[in-house]
Amino acid sequence: MLEQPYEYTARALVEPDWRRLPGFAAVTEEQWRSAQWQRVNCVKNVRQLRGVYGDLLDDSFYADVAADQAGRATMSLLLPPQMLNTMVPDAVPTAAAMLADPVRRYMLTVASDRLPGPAASHPYAARDSLHEHEMWAVEGLTHRYPTKVLAELLSTCPQYCGHCTRMDLVGNSTPAVPKLKFDLKPIDRQAAMLDYLRATPGVRDVVVSGGDVANLPFKNLAAFVQGLLDVESIRDIRLATKALMGLPQHWLQPEVLDGMGALAQTARARGVSLAVHTHVNAAQSVTPLVADAARALLAVGVRDVRNQGVLLEGVNATAGQLLDLCFALTDGASITPYYFYMCDMIPSAEHWRVSLDRAQTLQHDIMGYLPGFATPRIVCDVPYVGKRWVHQVAEYDRERGISYWTKNYRTGIERTDDAALDRRYVYYDPIHTLPAEGRAWWATHGSPVLEPVG
Ligand code: SF4
Repeated sequence: MLEQPYEYTARALVEPDWRRLPGFAAVTEEQWRSAQWQRVNCVKNVRQLRGVYGDLLDDSFYADVAADQAGRATMSLLLPPQMLNTMVPDAVPTAAAMLADPVRRYMLTVASDRLPGPAASHPYAARDSLHEHEMWAVEGLTHRYPTKVLAELLSTCPQYCGHCTRMDLVGNSTPAVPKLKFDLKPIDRQAAMLDYLRATPGVRDVVVSGGDVANLPFKNLAAFVQGLLDVESIRDIRLATKALMGLPQHWLQPEVLDGMGALAQTARARGVSLAVHTHVNAAQSVTPLVADAARALLAVGVRDVRNQGVLLEGVNATAGQLLDLCFALTDGASITPYYFYMCDMIPSAEHWRVSLDRAQTLQHDIMGYLPGFATPRIVCDVPYVGKRWVHQVAEYDRERGISYWTKNYRTGIERTDDAALDRRYVYYDPIHTLPAEGRAWWATHGSPVLEPVG
């Protein structure tokens, strides 16, 4: 019998032993399970990283991290112990093992991972590459799709991901990226969002995000969700939190679970679907604590917990890695695989991005193994358009890596634009993935403008 391209085997989840890391050698189970302890002991700089790993990692590794933070990093360091512990999960880490580790590759960025010189960024890379700010109906409320909005409630997270698409707003400024700040106070911003939603009954679906809602005091999150539940037209509410994976201890706190239970009960009584969306990119991140947190949310009445990962070279860009992750999520933690986004065209991200062609192949290769409802769609978030399944491309110049997309609705900034639905919108493959002819073309045509082309 011939083997399948992917051989499924049921695997038990593992919580790596944190005591293998010198800085956590004396940490008790009780401390580890405390959200407060996890937050206080986050790694925010190279000195603290040394405090965790000591001599396990050599000076060149620490220098690599420091060089990235001082140079191209678009996000500052912020790593909860829970997340650090999932790097090199089954051995005592060495510098070489850390450099190769999928979680390290996107959460603990190093200068040597980036492509050298100008190749690090695509010529058309941009802060706010999805143009969300242009589509703010009120501050922080992106109205891009006809029936859905994104509410950015805050600009912080318990962990910062190197490839964050909202790198212009989320997190602390880095030498490469001074961050924008909200103007309005949180309470005024949230009130303006609710006013807009009450006045816009065509919106039925709200993604409550940031940042990460786990960084809001729970009573503030609950007040906003309650406000949404009081808007008659809202039928779907999804809370976005990578912390379900990076800091599951937060969602396991009794007061948080009780509060989520109360919100879920109200939602259910009003016929509203309240779901949690998380962001897991590698199978090793799905530990028993993550599974406990996801299942505890389901047990208190949250309708579903879904995963929206990002397709990243070196992290999960093979069919085997994607399927391993999806099975860990669904079998191990009752989390539904939902989307994998192609990494957005932000500055200094070319080493993570894959071509559309590759994404299409991956979508093909993962079909048929998972239940249909848990088979993730691989999507391209096309600037000025929104999510498109990778096979929906209208035209694709593989040599130059330029794809052309269409759309079937007007975003919030096109209500009076007659031509919006007739235009084609562009997305670009990473130049280093192109054939020689394509790379040569870009060498003479690489001037940065990112406009819809008609
Ligand atoms: S958790 Fe989400 S919003 Fe926060 S840094 Fe990561 S990708 Fe960005």
